[in-house]
Amino acid sequence: MQPPFRTLSLMIWRRFPLLLLACLSTFPIAASAQTAPAPPALVAEKDMPADPRFSADRVKADVAFLADDLLEGRDTGSIGYEIAARYVAQRFASLGLTPLGDRKDGKSDWLQRVTFQKTERLDVPSGIAVTGPAGSASFAHAVDSFVGVSANEPRLDVSAPLVFVGYGFKNDRLGIDDYKGLDVKGKIVVMLRGFPEGLPSEPAAYLVNSKYKFAQAHGAIGVIQIDTDQSAKMRPWERRISSAFQPSFSWVGPDGRAFDETPNIRVGASVSDKAAQAMFAGAARSLAQVRKEAGRKGARPTGFALKTSARIFGESKSSRVTSPNVVAMIPGSDPALAGEYVILSGHLDHIGVSPAKPDDAPGKDRINNGALDNAAGVATLMEVAHVMANEQNKPRRSVIFLASTAEEKGLLGADYYARHPTVPIEKIVGNVDLDMPVLTYSFVDVTAYGADHSTLGALTAQAVAPMKVTVAPDPIPEETVFVRSDHYMFVQQGVPAVFLATGFGNGGEAAYRRYDGDNYHQVGDDMNQPIDWRAGARFAEANYRITRAMADGDTPPLWLKGDFFGDLFAPKAKKAEPGK
Ligand SMILES: [Zn+2]
Repeated sequence: MQPPFRTLSLMIWRRFPLLLLACLSTFPIAASAQTAPAPPALVAEKDMPADPRFSADRVKADVAFLADDLLEGRDTGSIGYEIAARYVAQRFASLGLTPLGDRKDGKSDWLQRVTFQKTERLDVPSGIAVTGPAGSASFAHAVDSFVGVSANEPRLDVSAPLVFVGYGFKNDRLGIDDYKGLDVKGKIVVMLRGFPEGLPSEPAAYLVNSKYKFAQAHGAIGVIQIDTDQSAKMRPWERRISSAFQPSFSWVGPDGRAFDETPNIRVGASVSDKAAQAMFAGAARSLAQVRKEAGRKGARPTGFALKTSARIFGESKSSRVTSPNVVAMIPGSDPALAGEYVILSGHLDHIGVSPAKPDDAPGKDRINNGALDNAAGVATLMEVAHVMANEQNKPRRSVIFLASTAEEKGLLGADYYARHPTVPIEKIVGNVDLDMPVLTYSFVDVTAYGADHSTLGALTAQAVAPMKVTVAPDPIPEETVFVRSDHYMFVQQGVPAVFLATGFGNGGEAAYRRYDGDNYHQVGDDMNQPIDWRAGARFAEANYRITRAMADGDTPPLWLKGDFFGDLFAPKAKKAEPGK
């Protein structure tokens, strides 16, 4: 899964600016022991009903291989990842699946090879110079500014007047237009980070994800984000610049260019409080006034032209690496429906090896094995494939299994597949995504992210009911999980999707917090965790049931009428009445 407050460079920023806002500190572990009701008695894994076809040993064996130190954390472009990809491909082959990757000489391969551009910052002066009524001042990169690298412009040097645009949102349906009356053509827009309190979190996540698109649509050439009091509290500036020298990735299209959804936005940056103050020198309203207004629930400060201009500069170099998606299929058994596809996805990559630090003890473990994130998701996916491949009555629709690459670099492998699918995208009727299942306890409920937007809500609840598993509402809406994993790339192409997480019941909340705090994206996410492999087998069963229900239904999954995401990404698709 993508971290909630990643501060990579420009490309990641463009796609996930919201993630910079959310904060783990929103989950205080301490609860009052006196007032909290006693937790219900824990249900043991052995007491949960389970289909014996799903094997805990197989799930464990697959995770053990994928999370082995030998694979060095399966980083995109690494040999360790390539080994993992071959392993998954051969497991698919051993099950008799159909390869559905790249086509060559009339034959399909297991792998869909993706080229990535890796852009790294050069060690030369970089930053932002601000000029205005108070004179000129410079704010260096990684000190008082964070200047994103540009995949397509290695020598970045952009100068333009600054215009403040509030949160930088535009959405007719919500009646929001932060650009109203402002001329930002050829200018750099300055905007508040995050979104106003009170906006529903999923539409808000979409708006935050789209800030660069709105800026481009209005003719701006650069974006600078400044903190609200709230966002500064959630993620202090010092922490934000800790990732100021990480490389950025983008996939390379068939045209040979690094993909950039907003090519006219030449530069993206973020600034410290000091630099933000300088940009508001002599402005119609002070930065303090704007921030005070933004602190009020639901308030969206209106924009105005600033009296300052900025020069943003920096240099980078790019190299290319390749890394494959692994794609296989079980053909549908119903001739009328076999031309439609349900896609079960899970990311195979992880974050590799942490760089050595000078004060490291000798022999310190630096390998991020990613046992739960997401060897466990891929093992679950392979277990679903195993059971489906071995059963007599096959699913009516075809089922695609996608082990994706570069999720940790910004959901790039799944985005590439969703934009370059090996079957027609309009024939992909639904997606089930697997990412980072917390399997360290006996789960009795699940959260079905994204399901409420389509008929997948009712379908999921029905599918897992025989397992005595219930569907619980999202316990962490502020984390906007819906936009943080691979399924969202399919949603953007109009495909209804669901992403299951094990729930907070029966000790799940404590298990999640422990994982999130101690092991998520750390070396401790390895086989030493107390993983309950029977829970892994049961999690595979839950996803199998959902996938089969989608593949076997008379009608494919449908967006609900009037749903924000359905209307946005699949405006012409047939819709279902809510409540059905
Ligand atoms: Zn992750």
